[in-house]
Amino acid sequence: MKKIAVLGSTGSIGTQTLDVAREQGDLEIVALSCGGNIRLMEEQMREFRPKLVSVWDEADAKALRENTKDLNIKIMAGMEGLLEVATIPEAEILVTAIVGMLGIRPTIAAIEAGKNIALANKETLVTAGHIIMPLARKHNVAILPVDSEHSAIFQSLNGEKGNHISKILLTASGGPFRGKKREELLNIQVEDALKHPNWAMGRKITIDSSTLVNKGLEVMEAKWLFDVDLDRIQVVVHPQSVIHSAVEFDDGAVIAQLGTPDMRLPIQYALYYPERRPLSGKRLDLFSLASLTFEEPDTETFKGLKLAYEAMTRGGNIPVAYNAANEKAVSLFLNRQIRYLEITDIIEETMKQTGFIENPTLEQILETEQEAYEFISSRW
Ligand code: NDP
Repeated sequence: MKKIAVLGSTGSIGTQTLDVAREQGDLEIVALSCGGNIRLMEEQMREFRPKLVSVWDEADAKALRENTKDLNIKIMAGMEGLLEVATIPEAEILVTAIVGMLGIRPTIAAIEAGKNIALANKETLVTAGHIIMPLARKHNVAILPVDSEHSAIFQSLNGEKGNHISKILLTASGGPFRGKKREELLNIQVEDALKHPNWAMGRKITIDSSTLVNKGLEVMEAKWLFDVDLDRIQVVVHPQSVIHSAVEFDDGAVIAQLGTPDMRLPIQYALYYPERRPLSGKRLDLFSLASLTFEEPDTETFKGLKLAYEAMTRGGNIPVAYNAANEKAVSLFLNRQIRYLEITDIIEETMKQTGFIENPTLEQILETEQEAYEFISSRW
């Protein structure tokens, strides 16, 4: 039995990870964590019987201990709990399905403890890629992408060791507002932005997909994962989400991975790599596809993508400012405290006022995050 731990097991990626475990039947879930959804966590505990569980608040931990006292499962809280789940000795792989920069410290701790990482939590790589990637090499652990685009690139690179990547073609659905101009986005409401055309995901990433900030984060994630210069990463809007991404090699060959939109595939691929296992679900039927179309992204309307290239080109702690500003802005938007277009305005303003640090330590990353939050709170 392969043993895994999951950070964020109650979320979209977390629950689909457990779907994979349920279907395959040979993954042992040794540790789970969530934020505040202790009702679902209790169900997961009863089904999978992990050795350790962590929730964010101590009060929730207390309530969960009371509700599950018949199970004899250790329950922790806060960052201490996340670190314990990330480093639990029994696990071989940690699935980082937690959302946001909260994932940085547990991911670093897991790598130091020698765990392979099935990485969904892209914010960690965007903000601390310069720490994570060398650390993973030092500890000889694999960073296995779960993001569907990065999994597609990873799959396209199979058997290509030593061959030079001429270009990464990172596909994007374009989100629910593809084709619209800024004036048409002035009155977008939370409900409109939460309607993704092709994928069912957590709330934060769904908003990020609508602003194309998610694609910006993915460009940065791809740069770290595949060590490719930014000018070789091209975003291609492909509304049907059939081609999950592709790699062009020096001889002009383009290798892509195609499929139906189902996150269980990249999750399962990361958990069993390099083995492919059968997976239930719909298959791609080429005959039923009317057409596959491609467009250039509109970076004037969706300036989050342009700002991501700028953040990564400037480097240092600027991607931290980009990401932290986005996390805060999305949460303000979801709470109906700012308007839709202000999300990317906030990112832009925060990047402008951030003092540059070339090679930020973990402490400096967290300080930059804090400063971004304070700047935004003082202005919005
Ligand atoms: P969700 O919002 O659905 O889930 C987030 C998970 O993190 C939940 O388990 C949540 O717990 C937990 N969490 C939130 N706050 C805390 C906290 N303070 N302490 C501990 N745990 C916490 O997100 P997604 O599954 O959509 O996304 C997770 C990550 O994967 C993100 O980085 C996203 O960008 C990435 N990703 C997601 C994809 C998708 O299809 N959803 C695709 C590719 C990447 P609780 O439920 O208790 O709040």
